[in-house]
Amino acid sequence: KLLVDRYLKGENVGEGTYGIVSKAIDTKTGNIVAIKRIRIGEKKEGVNFTALREIKLLKELKDPNIIELIDCFPYKDSLHLVFEFMETDLEAVIKDKRIVLSPADTKSYAQMMLKGLAFCHKKWVLHRDMKPNNLLIGADGQLKLADFGLARMFGSPGRNFTHQVFARWYRAPELLFGSKHYGSAVDIWAAGCIFAELLTRRPFLQGSSDIDQLGKIFAALGTPKPSQWPDMTYLPDYVEYQYVAAPPLRTLLPMASDDALDLLSKMLTYDPKARITAQQALEHRYFSSLPAPTRPSQLPRPR
Ligand code: ADP
Repeated sequence: KLLVDRYLKGENVGEGTYGIVSKAIDTKTGNIVAIKRIRIGEKKEGVNFTALREIKLLKELKDPNIIELIDCFPYKDSLHLVFEFMETDLEAVIKDKRIVLSPADTKSYAQMMLKGLAFCHKKWVLHRDMKPNNLLIGADGQLKLADFGLARMFGSPGRNFTHQVFARWYRAPELLFGSKHYGSAVDIWAAGCIFAELLTRRPFLQGSSDIDQLGKIFAALGTPKPSQWPDMTYLPDYVEYQYVAAPPLRTLLPMASDDALDLLSKMLTYDPKARITAQQALEHRYFSSLPAPTRPSQLPRPR
């Protein structure tokens, strides 16, 4: 089937929070693309023009570590978003026990993730839904952030619980306390959780509910003191809780280097205002010390 006289639609490759994703050939360029269909309600009113305008902005967001939005068009009752096709994602890499990630490989993935974030944050765009399966990996090994800005445009995906569960593990403490004026620091928290997951090969803070998520954070990092995070006590869902001391981070990540642990602790700083930024993280000595990050084309990936 040829969509808008240009895309030759192929098999479905997955179903996500917002809709079905299918493989297609872009007959204009000959490239393989992924088309994501986003249903826009049952009403006959057609597409939401605010969403379309925001998507136009996303099309301008071009960086080697951001998945490129090639095109978008309304068709039938759905908005169709056309992206470059990606071979796999970071979740598949982390879960594949046949893959050995060397410290240089982990550094490479962490660096690509932070480069993508730094680029978007510089343009005042937040991701808001960072998780390993949103970090796609291309045939050339480049890691690219996917679904940028979609969370904001289409609302938090509360309808789909299977997806909601995973996102929780990457949620920043200010969000769990009900903050409504959050910023790019929420993406850094999530990136910190993903960095820890790369280092240990398992999700770092696996809460079974929002309350339990906070409990898992406190158990790993200790309860935040108001002196560490002065704005905390004013957040809508803040409650006082029993003091828990932080175990040394080293005990949770025995194989990580000192540099990796130092960077991680700065990404998982409670006060979002004190949390390291993506640009500062890229300038951290972890990235300049040996081993050098593996070149993307040399990274191991699932077959
Ligand atoms: P989620 O909402 O869970 O983040 P997505 O809607 O982004 O999921 O994607 C659903 C599935 O479609 C993914 O698990 C992946 O397998 C596939 N997919 C998404 N984007 C692409 C892409 N650009 N290239 C190839 N496959 C993709």
